[in-house]
Amino acid sequence: MPRPIHAVVHQPALANNLEVARRCAPDSRIWAVIKANAYGHGIRRAFAGLRAADGFGLLDLDEAVLLRDLGWQGPVLLLEGIFQPQDVALLEQYRLTTVLHSEEQLRMLELARPKGPLAVQLKMNTGMNRLGFHPDQYRTIWERARALSCVGSIVHMTHFSDADSPRGIEHQLAVFDAATANLPGEASLANSAATLWHPKAHRAWVRPGVMLYGAAPTGRQADVEGMGLQPAMSLQSELISVQDLQPGDTVGYGSLYTAERPMRVGVVACGYADGYPRHAAGWGDKPAPVLVDGVRTRLVGRVSMDMLCVDLTPCPKARVGSPVTLWGQGLPIDDVAEASGTVGYELMCALAPRVPTTVAMLTAPDQPGNTGD
Ligand SMILES: *Cc1c(COP(=O)(O)O)cnc(C)c1O
Repeated sequence: MPRPIHAVVHQPALANNLEVARRCAPDSRIWAVIKANAYGHGIRRAFAGLRAADGFGLLDLDEAVLLRDLGWQGPVLLLEGIFQPQDVALLEQYRLTTVLHSEEQLRMLELARPKGPLAVQLKMNTGMNRLGFHPDQYRTIWERARALSCVGSIVHMTHFSDADSPRGIEHQLAVFDAATANLPGEASLANSAATLWHPKAHRAWVRPGVMLYGAAPTGRQADVEGMGLQPAMSLQSELISVQDLQPGDTVGYGSLYTAERPMRVGVVACGYADGYPRHAAGWGDKPAPVLVDGVRTRLVGRVSMDMLCVDLTPCPKARVGSPVTLWGQGLPIDDVAEASGTVGYELMCALAPRVPTTVAMLTAPDQPGNTGD
């Protein structure tokens, strides 16, 4: 028998969340961001759920090639552009749209002089200070890029540092709009947070990632309450043992949890080697939530490599074999992330390869964009 842990990727949830993004930004085209193996969901598994997108954004050439192999003919955007001169040929071969964020990348195109026409997204650093050209040089760089015979279209692009927090986007938007004033071309600005909360940033394209997977950009599920997002990944397991504790008994490595009264503790086949965060609190007053038999309870003690323990007080009928939900349907991944000092993004991306993963498929044949192979 395999260990009872498994994950499910819900294609209908992905399709639903893409629709939510469309409703948020009805006049924009959508780059569905599927970097990091579709935020841990698996590009192969996520693709059918997201194929109503207008394009896909990712990082690795391998991921782009996989998408072509899956039959995707539409736009594919390399969010960090190319990494070395040899990559220029692949842009042509696979018809990839590339971000151009540095002098080095521009020089690769100038030297390789491919035939083109290449679709380019020229990235401006408006304050994130990660990738992109300084606003003062942007126009000059744009002119150099436009002068290249291999460059077909140029979309203006930037990325927000605070679209999910009180600082907001105004300061970056002002820089962007000033630097692109009277330059022709479309723009692409909004991540999930700006797609959800900053309509001013909805230009020709938006680039949602995490919201497509049903998590909140802020890491607090309450912030997307009522938006209709559904969790695209669930992580499930079972109880493989039950212990009866007496007051004073402790649980797990480091004895971080001490029973104050007689209680039953369930042992779940899931640990940090499966991608469950070791930092999840199994002590204190904000412990990580877990569902046992559909009932919300809490983690107790330190998460170990292959197991974690839960308080069975609210679920007296639970026994070996009872189903456990670590996150997903009925338990927002954000809630687990919050109790672990991180965000849902990190948890989904860290789902371990050893966890067998199945797909809940789209069945409605008449949904737009998801028919076909
Ligand atoms: C990851 C990424 C996104 C998507 O961000 P979310 O917060 O997941 O919506 C958008 N644009 C760029 C350039 C990115 O790297």
